[in-house]
Amino acid sequence: MKLVVIGGVAAGMSLAARARRLDESAEIVVLERSDHVSFANCGLPYHIGGEIERRDALLLQTPERLKASLNLDVRVAQEATAIDRGRRRVTVRDRKTGRTYEESYDFLGLCPGATPIRPALPGVDLPGIRTLRNMEDMDAILGDMQSGVRHATVIGAGYIGVEMAENLVRRGVRVTLVEMLDQIMPPLDREMTGALEDELKRRGVVLHLETAAAAFRHSATGRLQVELKNGVTLDTDMTLLCVGVRPDVALAKTAGLEFGPRGGIRVDEHQRTADPNIFAAGDAVEVRHQVLPDTWLIPLAGPANRQGRVAAENICGRDTVFTPVQGTAIVKVFDLTAGVTGATEKNLQRAGMPYRKCYLHPSGHAGYYPGTGPMQLKLLFAPDTGRLLGAQAVGFDGVDKRLDVLATAIRAGQTARDLQDAELAYAPPYGSAKDPVNMAGFIATNLLQGDLQCWYAEEFPARAEKGLVLDVRSPQEYETGHVPGAVNIPLDELRRRLGELPRDREILTYCRVGLRSCLTYRILTQNGFRAASLAGGFNTFRAWRRQAPEPDATQAFEPYAEPPAAAAPPGRTVTLDCLGLQCPGPIIRLKETMSDLDPGDQIVLQTNDPGFIGDAPAWCAAQGHTLVEITTAGPQITARIRKGGPAAKANPTLPAASGPRKKSIVVFSGDLDRVMAAFVIANGALAMGDQVSIFFTFWGLNALRKSAPPPVAKGLLDRMFGWMMPRGPTALKLSSLNMAGIGTALMKKVMRDKRVDSLPELMRQAREQGARLIACSMSMDVMGMKKEELLDGIEVGGVASFLGEANGSNATLFI
Ligand code: FAD
Repeated sequence: MKLVVIGGVAAGMSLAARARRLDESAEIVVLERSDHVSFANCGLPYHIGGEIERRDALLLQTPERLKASLNLDVRVAQEATAIDRGRRRVTVRDRKTGRTYEESYDFLGLCPGATPIRPALPGVDLPGIRTLRNMEDMDAILGDMQSGVRHATVIGAGYIGVEMAENLVRRGVRVTLVEMLDQIMPPLDREMTGALEDELKRRGVVLHLETAAAAFRHSATGRLQVELKNGVTLDTDMTLLCVGVRPDVALAKTAGLEFGPRGGIRVDEHQRTADPNIFAAGDAVEVRHQVLPDTWLIPLAGPANRQGRVAAENICGRDTVFTPVQGTAIVKVFDLTAGVTGATEKNLQRAGMPYRKCYLHPSGHAGYYPGTGPMQLKLLFAPDTGRLLGAQAVGFDGVDKRLDVLATAIRAGQTARDLQDAELAYAPPYGSAKDPVNMAGFIATNLLQGDLQCWYAEEFPARAEKGLVLDVRSPQEYETGHVPGAVNIPLDELRRRLGELPRDREILTYCRVGLRSCLTYRILTQNGFRAASLAGGFNTFRAWRRQAPEPDATQAFEPYAEPPAAAAPPGRTVTLDCLGLQCPGPIIRLKETMSDLDPGDQIVLQTNDPGFIGDAPAWCAAQGHTLVEITTAGPQITARIRKGGPAAKANPTLPAASGPRKKSIVVFSGDLDRVMAAFVIANGALAMGDQVSIFFTFWGLNALRKSAPPPVAKGLLDRMFGWMMPRGPTALKLSSLNMAGIGTALMKKVMRDKRVDSLPELMRQAREQGARLIACSMSMDVMGMKKEELLDGIEVGGVASFLGEANGSNATLFI
């Protein structure tokens, strides 16, 4: 038997080597167009970055070694230019000499791979615009770099684009990464990619999302310029096109083979093409997907190697079937790792397949053992059977093994329930007794059997408008950012404050990652409330609502360097180890430690809670402290915070008040807009260090009512009054343009969109800052209102209390 293999890398060399192992007597010829066979194309970016130091480490085999070990006739720089199927002959051109010859075959292994796409844009063939597929491409890029590349533009933020961005940065090159979509790493769902974008930006990579290259040209000074569709022109020294690959099917077309709907060679489950003597494998063929319908192009090294092996087995007379591909892939993005297996949510949606999903944020290994950080894990499964459909993970440590376990489970046709029972290796440096894979199984099973109902970030604000959003994190966490309009009742206080929650609306609970919210869900539903818990918590909510990052102009020409250590001003420096503490641990420890320090003292805090990167600036701004710097090293985050002075929050443009710093406000109106105005003023005064008392009388009392008060004994008239009046801050209406509630709802929406705090939120802030809320006892009596019907912590006072407050104030407002 004579076998000719076209293409001598992943699929082709697997095919040839397996064929030799099965048939010692076969004549096997491998034709490779480039100058190298069996090279590690996946390692090319890492040699460019210097991580793989030796170029020859990428050359896994040479024709000589392959001849010696496997008796293969491997010919480099030989291009197959035509296939004559009738005569079973391949025309070959020797690229060095130009000589053409024919090679006969009994079987042909067609493994030509995929070529990088070079979009037909003006100037795309200018020098300095490169693609990366093989050793020659890598050598050309390294050659360019030797002649002095200070800035590179990488077009396309898929696997290769992101790897190239990292490796160019490692070589001291400033990098701009351009991506047409609103996310990097299109093989992942968008909400999973925010941390990767942040990591790239932290390392100095400038991102331009939602735009594409429009043209290339040289400037008057001869510098390469990339014009983007958004109007930006980038001056650059080198451009790398990483916009995807397409199957290299020119030869297959001349042979008249059949093609699939995506342009790849059509093969059956034995890797046989329409011609029984021609088998094809690798990036050039279309594959069946394990989860999704239709055939797909999935250019990955693992499937290419497996297909080559399957083709060889069938050529050698066996009956071996190639099982479908599930697209398991992984990428390193500086200190982060991201990967996917099976279907993504966007693919399931496009295919119209029903699915359910859950998110979790477990540590890579036990949080108390150094060197770990939380990972983001997303699981997709069938709503009826729980069959696993896909998984994605992003994090620092242990991402690869979770992906591989999940990939194996998907391949085995397991369900989300099966993940609960996976018995995985555990010791603190490696994992957790309840492994992230088990945890994913627990959450998904809770959903499947109705122990938990979730709401999803993408349902906001529509679902929230009909319900009440309840944040059960600590006030400190709430302060650092929350779902617009959310009411904050920490989980620990929930059981005794259930009376504040409405029973006629769905309570949409959330916490940071979903655990406390799940407990809340169980408490609420067992107390007769309708509830749902936000999947993935506020972390996932933030990821969903994240806008594509704006390119930061200040980054544009700054080479990456570790930020210089800030000069230490006088004062104490305290080190605070918060490693292993879950949010809100670091913020609470920070607050406690800060209270013992003097203005100007500094805290150097270490944590591995990635949420702290977003929380720290917000908390410092709210408290009047200075975030001097925040740096990361792997999962470890180090923040230096300087304590602000007592006047840190005061507005320096205002003259110092000489009289009493106290404001009294009378709220007579029960109109939403007027009550809001009262609290906006109150919060402003409080922020400037004033004391504030707010006296609620007549209709104003409605703002203080509980939405679901406990039953109280009342006469008929008082009960009727109660029915007719709005219950609490969320039920108030606008003073004008209410339009049967439409105007009020519209106003709330506009406020949410413009991130104006809701009335309950303003009230909470005022109370937390120390405002006294006093209900007028006389009005309560007239309106038949009892103290139990008012929000917890409201004082009840007569006119004397008000006058006492007013006498001591330097301003009294009547609203
Ligand atoms: P190729 O490896 O492309 O080999 C095809 C060969 O056929 C080529 O060398 C070509 O010169 C030759 N050829 C084509 N036409 C002819 C002809 N007419 N005559 C003679 N020879 C011909 N995959 C992963 O799973 N993980 C990774 O981390 C990863 N990283 C990558 C990084 C880079 C920079 C690149 C380029 C690819 C990466 N891949 C990765 C993809 C992976 O390398 C491919 O999926 C895999 O190599 C495909 O194997 P193949 O044999 O089908 O094609």
